[in-house]
Amino acid sequence: MEKDITTELYVLENYLDGMLDRVQHNSLTLKRLQSFEMRLLGLDTLAEIIEYILSETKTLFALDIVSLCLQDAKDEIADYLTSDHYPYETREGLLLTKDDSVFKRVFDFNQRPLLGIYKAEIYSAFFPTESLSPSSVILAPLIRQGRYLGSLNLGSYRSDRFIRNMATDFIEHLASVMSVCLENTLIIETIRRTSLIDPLTGVNNRRFLEQRIEEELARCMRTRLPLSCLFLDIDFFKRINDNFGHQAGDHVLALIAASIKKQLRNNDVLSRFGGEEFVVLLAESDEKNAGEIAERIRSNIAALAVEINGQAMPVTISIGTSTFDPCQASTSPVLAKANALIQSADAALYEAKREGRNRVKNSGVVLDNLLKQA
Ligand code: GH3
Ligand code: MG
Ligand code: MG
Repeated sequence: MEKDITTELYVLENYLDGMLDRVQHNSLTLKRLQSFEMRLLGLDTLAEIIEYILSETKTLFALDIVSLCLQDAKDEIADYLTSDHYPYETREGLLLTKDDSVFKRVFDFNQRPLLGIYKAEIYSAFFPTESLSPSSVILAPLIRQGRYLGSLNLGSYRSDRFIRNMATDFIEHLASVMSVCLENTLIIETIRRTSLIDPLTGVNNRRFLEQRIEEELARCMRTRLPLSCLFLDIDFFKRINDNFGHQAGDHVLALIAASIKKQLRNNDVLSRFGGEEFVVLLAESDEKNAGEIAERIRSNIAALAVEINGQAMPVTISIGTSTFDPCQASTSPVLAKANALIQSADAALYEAKREGRNRVKNSGVVLDNLLKQA
């Protein structure tokens, strides 16, 4: 009898110890999850969020493989990551997919994670092909407002790591927080970019130029390499509108913007300054360079075979150029330098118009105390 009670007590003590261990383990996991989520919520850019998810989730859950599939029907994510210089194509574990059928097929709008033994025919699309396949997996859908953003996919080389009927509340919670973060960042990125892009021509707008010119000048002061500016204005554009209508004018504007862009390098800045005027910033370009690029833009536009309603319509452009030489710069504020650069190119453009249009005029190196003299 006494022996029975002792055994029972021993079993109960063991059971209690096991329970205490589990409570301790869960409370620790919860704390780590909370701190993971707090850091995730504090990140600003899409590239930071993706990088954090891919690297830190692995540590958080002691996993062998983590991948993130994101739906990117319009290549927006790819564009955002490219402009942030994030190597999304070679980042192991990041998979961008154009169509959401892969998610629909697996999750069927079930908000709960899927887990169990890895089956290549179902799950291979969710894991990087270059790494060893996992033995058991858990796939958590990232859904916001009935739309798949993607999925978070965790894999283990142990087949008993993720088994059916296992509790998935931690992962579900984490997937919800990730979905909110990703959705918010995508919305912010889209707003930020659309507010800096001219919808008619697809090139940057004046606000973008105003931001970038200060950055470019600061960079030019650091690198000690010159920065040039082109001010471009379509010749007799009003006549196009008057003779062919505003819509035809819009069409020509878009053609001209595309033609200018074609002559530029990736790191040059093209912006629609207003109406039928464009401003270009040419990094690391001196007077001679700027003159050559401007001449190339001018001659390409003059050679464009623009047709409206089957009627050929010659279009020409006048260009003024100016150059900022950091070795000849004064200590004036960057805003004064920016204004001087644009104003000088504009003055040269005025000369080009005065001398008959369809030509390039060079105002030379800008003195950034120009404004004080004016
Ligand atoms: P110049 O050779 O001296 O530059 O002559 P211009 O006719 O190009 O110059 P002006 O400034 O007199 O006219 C510019 C015209 O550009 C007037 C305006 O109606 C037109 N314009 C401005 N923005 C747009 C636009 O978004 N779409 C269209 N279709 N026309 C525009
Ligand atoms: Mg004009
Ligand atoms: Mg004009």
